[in-house]
Amino acid sequence: MKQLIVVADMEGASGIFEHNKSWLYNGTQDWREYGRECITFDALAVCWAAVDFGIDDILLYDAHYAGNTEFNIQAEKLPLCVRVFDVKDRCFDWRRIRGQAAQHPFGLITVGQHAREGTPDAYFPHTIQSPPIKNFFCNGLHIAEIGSAVLSFSGVPYLANVGCKASMAEALELSDKIVTIPVKDKAKGWEPSHFETYQIIYDGVTKALEWADAATGVNLEPPFHFSMELCDGYAFDTGADISWKGSVGVTVAKWEAPSVEIGLELFSCVRGLLRKI
Ligand SMILES: [Zn+2]
Repeated sequence: MKQLIVVADMEGASGIFEHNKSWLYNGTQDWREYGRECITFDALAVCWAAVDFGIDDILLYDAHYAGNTEFNIQAEKLPLCVRVFDVKDRCFDWRRIRGQAAQHPFGLITVGQHAREGTPDAYFPHTIQSPPIKNFFCNGLHIAEIGSAVLSFSGVPYLANVGCKASMAEALELSDKIVTIPVKDKAKGWEPSHFETYQIIYDGVTKALEWADAATGVNLEPPFHFSMELCDGYAFDTGADISWKGSVGVTVAKWEAPSVEIGLELFSCVRGLLRKI
């Protein structure tokens, strides 16, 4: 069995730009009528390229607006071999997600991805949630959603990133062997529709699957050192007692964990200490 892992966000989906950003807002009428179709088309292109290549099992995590029950991707339109990860309210429960996948999946593809907070010429750049989060590091790697997904699947060949042109930097820092598949480019004013990018994604993913032997997974060595810095206007509660290994400064918190998944769970604890000032 050849299993492909697909992790989807939405800010980097085809057809969604500043002028129609309401399409991103999970639960709204615009999202229901227009936005969902955009990310569904991108996911369809990834999945059909995979099926045509010979992938027979696809596990999909729909991560946009994690915490909300409603899926962004219209999973019922995807090929029959696509299953969605069983996670409560689609929350970032990376340990549970990793546990549901095969020990050695064929590869990992990220789709609908956006750039990190502070990236120029990017559509909707942010680091998991910005504000309040300005940046997030794991063992020296500057990561956001793409990095969280890729590090949670450590060792799994990272094949391709589909999304905003500016999101490619984070993906390439994780693995320079990936195929990059931009679907919009703010610097160039390139804003194609999701109909126009379907074939681009399909062709790019096909190439990535054909080149899978050359792809590599990300392998960091434990212990894992994490740090989170806050945007202006936010601060950590430095007086709080913490039960994990780490330190909490006014704007930067650091912690250490024996695995990426545990470190990402502690991320939520650290986040609980921040407040607006
Ligand atoms: Zn998102």
